[in-house]
Amino acid sequence: MIEILERKRDGHALSTAQIQRFVSDYTEGAIPDYQASALLMAIFIQGMTRREATDLTLAMAHSGDQLDLQDVAPFIVDKHSSGGVGDKTTLVVQPLVAACGVPVGKMSGRGLGSTGGTLDKMESIPGWSFNLSLDQFKEQLAAIGLVLGGQTADLAPADGKLYALRDVTGTVGSTPLIAASIMSKKLAGGADAIVLDVKVGSGSFMPTFEKARELADLMVEIGNGAGKKTVALISDMNQPLGHAVGNALEVKEAIATLKGGGPSDFWDHCLEVSGHLLLLASRAETLAEAKNLAQLARDEGRAFDLFRKMVKAQKGDPKFVDKPELLPDAALVEDIFADKDGYVAGINAGQIGWSCVRLGAGRLVKDEKIDLGVGMVIPIKVGAFLRAGDLIATIHANDSGRLGRARLEFLGAISWSDSVVNPLPLFYETVS
Ligand code: URA
Repeated sequence: MIEILERKRDGHALSTAQIQRFVSDYTEGAIPDYQASALLMAIFIQGMTRREATDLTLAMAHSGDQLDLQDVAPFIVDKHSSGGVGDKTTLVVQPLVAACGVPVGKMSGRGLGSTGGTLDKMESIPGWSFNLSLDQFKEQLAAIGLVLGGQTADLAPADGKLYALRDVTGTVGSTPLIAASIMSKKLAGGADAIVLDVKVGSGSFMPTFEKARELADLMVEIGNGAGKKTVALISDMNQPLGHAVGNALEVKEAIATLKGGGPSDFWDHCLEVSGHLLLLASRAETLAEAKNLAQLARDEGRAFDLFRKMVKAQKGDPKFVDKPELLPDAALVEDIFADKDGYVAGINAGQIGWSCVRLGAGRLVKDEKIDLGVGMVIPIKVGAFLRAGDLIATIHANDSGRLGRARLEFLGAISWSDSVVNPLPLFYETVS
C-alpha cells in the first residue's frame, strides 16, 4: 500500500493490478481508513488516466455481486446524478418512468459533501429501507417495476466504503473518483440503459462546464464500453433545484410534485430526465412524445401510486406518503423576507448546501447521525423580481444557535441587482 501511495503521490499511473488489489483489500477491511484517505487525496490532486479510471470503476463494480436482470424484464433503465443541492429528482423520475411501463432498478447513495443523498432522504419515511438482498431487489423489480437500492455488502460494497470516506475527507470533487463511484453502482445494478444527470455550478462538484463535460464524456465512455446505452445531460446547479433543501423537506416536495404541484423548475427538470430514459427504452420516437408520456403518468396519478407501492414494498409506512405533513420536521421554523426591491442575481447553491449540512442535514464526520427534519425552503429563483417584504426563505432548525448562523449564511448566499437578470437555464448539453 505504501508503494501504491507513493506512486500516485508522485503523479504516476497505477497498474490495473495495483488498482484491483487496493479495491479488494480495502473492501475486505485489510487497509485502514488512513491509508485509503491518503490515496483518495493523492488521486484527487494527481488525477487518473482514462485507463486507470476505467480499471477503478470495474474493480469497484466487481467488489460485490453483479445483478443480472435479464430474467426480470427485457429492458431496465437507471439514472444517476453527479450530486446537487435540492436534487430530489430520483424520487419523481423513477416512478414516472416505471409508470410508463419501463422498469427502473436503481442504486442510490447517501449525502456527499454539500449535496444530499437519495438514501438519506428516503430514510425520512419511517421504516423505509434500501437494504435488500439480491433476490429481494429482483423480486420487487419484477412485481412493481421499481426498486430503490443502495450499496450493500452484496452490491458495490467498495463504493459504499469509499463513498463514506470521501464524504468527510475533502475528496469528493474528483472526476475519476466520481465517475468510478457512479458507474460502478450502475454496472453492478444491471440496467441496460443509463441517463446521467451531470451537474455544473456552485452547488455541484464540477465548477465549470469544461469539467462537467469531461466527467460526462468519461462516464458515457465507461457505460458504452460496458455495453450499456448511456446518455449524460449536463444540467445547471448554480442555484438549488426546486425549493426544498434538506431530507424530509425534499421528500415532501417530491410527493407534492408527484401529486401535480411542486416547483416548476423541478418538474421541468424531472420531465426532461424522464423523457431521455423513455427514449432510451424506445417508448417514444421523440423527446417531446416521451415527455408527454411522463406528464400523463403524473396527471393520471399512476406515478404517485407507484411511489407509494415502492415505499410499502421497502417496509416504509405509506401513511407518511399519504400525509407528508407527518414526516419529521424541526422545532424552530423561521421565515426570512426581502429587505429591499430588486432582482435576484445569484443564490449560491454550494453555500446553501453547506449551511444545511451545518444545520444537521448532512455529515461532517463519518457515520454521523443526520437530522432529517432540518433544512431550508427557498421559494425564489435567479432572475425573479422581488419586493421588500416578499418571503425569500424558511429555515427549519432544531437549535437556536444553528438557526442564527444559517440565517446569516443564507443572506450571504443571495446576491441582488437593480437591473434585469436573466433566469438560469435548466440544461446545457446532451452527451451520448
Ligand atoms: N454520486 C455518486 O454516487 N458518487 C459520487 O461520487 C457523486 C455522486
